[in-house]
Amino acid sequence: MISAAVIEALKEIVPAERIMFQEPMKLHTTFRIGGPADYLIYLENEDQLCRIQKYLRLVDVPYTVIGNGSNLLVSDDGYRGIVLVIGKYMSEITVKDCYLEAEAGALMSQVAKTAKEHGLTGLEFAAGIPGTVGGGAVMNAGAYGGEMSQVVSTVTVVNRNGEIMELDNGTMEFGYRTSVIQNQPFVVTKVTFRLEQGDPEQIAEKMADLAKRRREKQPLEYPSAGSTFKRPAGHFAGQLIMESGLRGYSVGGAKVSEKHCGFIINTGNATAEDVKDVIWEVQRRVKERFQVDLEPEIKFL
Ligand SMILES: Cc1cc2nc3c(=O)[nH]c(=O)nc-3n(C[C@H](O)[C@H](O)[C@H](O)COP(=O)(O)OP(=O)(O)OC[C@H]3O[C@@H](n4cnc5c(N)ncnc54)[C@H](O)[C@@H]3O)c2cc1C
Repeated sequence: MISAAVIEALKEIVPAERIMFQEPMKLHTTFRIGGPADYLIYLENEDQLCRIQKYLRLVDVPYTVIGNGSNLLVSDDGYRGIVLVIGKYMSEITVKDCYLEAEAGALMSQVAKTAKEHGLTGLEFAAGIPGTVGGGAVMNAGAYGGEMSQVVSTVTVVNRNGEIMELDNGTMEFGYRTSVIQNQPFVVTKVTFRLEQGDPEQIAEKMADLAKRRREKQPLEYPSAGSTFKRPAGHFAGQLIMESGLRGYSVGGAKVSEKHCGFIINTGNATAEDVKDVIWEVQRRVKERFQVDLEPEIKFL
């Protein structure tokens, strides 16, 4: 239970209209699943984040950070605490020479589009990833041979004491769908990319080709969180799931996509419990048949 005094103090930092009470998290996830968060706050700038972090630590109120909610499964009970959103109000993008600087709430698609408009190559892979730059840095998001680690120059973060730090590419410890931020309580506020001059026509062609491949292969017509599982070494998750006879397997409204077995989709009224049941059964059957452990790529809240 968050006291009225805490909320009054937060209103001194963030305008009242950016603070939502009992906010349904299904409105903030691409899965369209999730119960209410006690409070959800849209941040507008780094300074607000620093002040809020310091304050919440002092009063010991739980909080978490999300971007576009495109890699998240939120519980049907929602979240007891405060969800901080780094999204549309922190999404400025600037370009100087080969450097593109984006606030963490900028969408990957928008950053890729801006790079294209400036004739900069390197971010074509990002055009179809429906997350923010902050979420992308945390996840080392990638597709079709490209990933954040190849183009990120520096990442600006705020630590739990509300202090701003700049991490270079090496310090980010990027790995397959992971970075140092998954093990540290850092919040990303800005990402600087180092890109290369390219041919605008070729950049546009590559983006169009990747978008076509996505439309053909992925069930984009249904809510989901993208690939549910990480790619196990030497295999493709989707293929193992299909060969385990789980194509179209469903519990309630959650279903293994028939178009791409690596995706669990929400066919209408799926609950988080439905999705978890599908995940467990998929893990169990794939382990039984292939002795392979499938590790979720999606994050649970
Ligand atoms: C249709 C579809 C296709 C997809 N395709 C791809 C793909 O090709 N490649 C790929 O890699 N992913 C893909 N994804 C997954 C997802 O888009 C990426 O993981 C994306 O990077 C998540 O960004 P987000 O802003 O939505 O993060 P969220 O889902 O909001 O959060 C993900 C994690 O990052 C943390 N986080 C978010 N923002 C911050 C921040 N500013 N500071 C600190 N922590 C933060 C959250 O706490 C959470 O742990 C796809 C998803 C969908 C729905």
